[in-house]
Amino acid sequence: MMEATPKGLRLQIGIFGRRNVGKSSLFNQLLHQEIAIVSDTPGTTTDPVEKAMEFLPLGPVVFVDTAGIDDIGALGAQRVEKTRRVVNRIDLAILVTDAWGEYENGLLVLFGERKIPVIVVANKADQRRAEGAAGVLEAEARTAILAATQTTCELPIESDVTRPNVITVAAKSGEGIEALRQALILSAPDDFLNPPSILSGLVSEGELVVLVVPVDKEAPKGRIILPQVQVIRDLLDRHASALVVQDTELAKTLDRLKNPPVLVVTDSQAFARVAADTPESIPMTSFSILFARYKGDLTAMVQGAMAIDRLQPGAKILVGEACTHHPIGDDIGRLKIPNWLREKIGDEIELTVVAGRDYPDDVRGYDLVIHCGACVWNRREMLTRIESAHAAHVPITNYGLAISKCLNIFERALQPFPMAYNMYKENKTR
Ligand code: SF4
Repeated sequence: MMEATPKGLRLQIGIFGRRNVGKSSLFNQLLHQEIAIVSDTPGTTTDPVEKAMEFLPLGPVVFVDTAGIDDIGALGAQRVEKTRRVVNRIDLAILVTDAWGEYENGLLVLFGERKIPVIVVANKADQRRAEGAAGVLEAEARTAILAATQTTCELPIESDVTRPNVITVAAKSGEGIEALRQALILSAPDDFLNPPSILSGLVSEGELVVLVVPVDKEAPKGRIILPQVQVIRDLLDRHASALVVQDTELAKTLDRLKNPPVLVVTDSQAFARVAADTPESIPMTSFSILFARYKGDLTAMVQGAMAIDRLQPGAKILVGEACTHHPIGDDIGRLKIPNWLREKIGDEIELTVVAGRDYPDDVRGYDLVIHCGACVWNRREMLTRIESAHAAHVPITNYGLAISKCLNIFERALQPFPMAYNMYKENKTR
């Protein structure tokens, strides 16, 4: 059972267009690529069809497939009305077309009036190529978007008029679907991309969390690092308590407490000792795993970590860091994680470490990407990296997940996150 997300908290994406433009093929293509359909709202042929799902890497979404906006007759009018009502509740629109005309212009106005970001899908690209008309529909769509923007000034996505969001797709073959997924990430409203807080759903007002922060030679002088600061701030915001200790003091601190904490969060580098010193009854995870959820997509990154079990000797690993800090001593990305991986695989690996903007546009050729927590980024930026790895069919995970996998404490570190934990358990047994 996947953790249910209330519909109101899901990003609602409507698929619109005339009849026979390929809306349902597109809908099916988008669904086919997903690992976990959470629930299913059956519809009739006259009703919009909804699918609530985990759409990697955006998270929980509802796709709404609507009837053709050009439907005719009495029944047709009802369907069109239902389609219009869908526009009132969606957060993002996909307008599918195979020939631009009055219906498409009408939908653009409708989206513009309601300030709904829209992605135009120029479908049936293969047919248009065969007819020698490649690019014509896309140009028409861009012109119409610019005209609509000038008239209504309210099409949010077209505020960037130099880059109207028109994606070339052949839904039946799957061509262009990855570009559409990228466009969905880039167009999703910020509210849906930024989870409410790092510890949401894990800690409530008045509860105690123990934070384990080892002070080794890698620790910066006179301060603690940003992910730790952000977790402490989150606990203060929710009127919970933070008790901060080094790993060497954890066991006796837990012993002294009258009531156990609701959670122990450790620096991933101290995972082994912290797992041993924290009683099984106390949930435990790492800062980095919290950030896999907060800044990225925990489910996608758990899948990536599972690929560690399939790595072969000589595997090519890309380590990505979002900032360009100066590596010191036993740097985690350059030394500790590679060593744990070598121990796990029992042989050599081929390692490439990139920091900041040196990250490659195309990660094809690697067997695994291991990324830092990306604490300095917004979630959209990390999701774009996850999606580019996904498009290249390269698993991607993050430091904390990779370390817990290598040290065989993966399940325990995932237990505080039921959705990711259950996904792991279900896939592990397949
Ligand atoms: S951006 Fe990454 S490497 Fe830099 S401090 Fe944050 S988690 Fe560490």
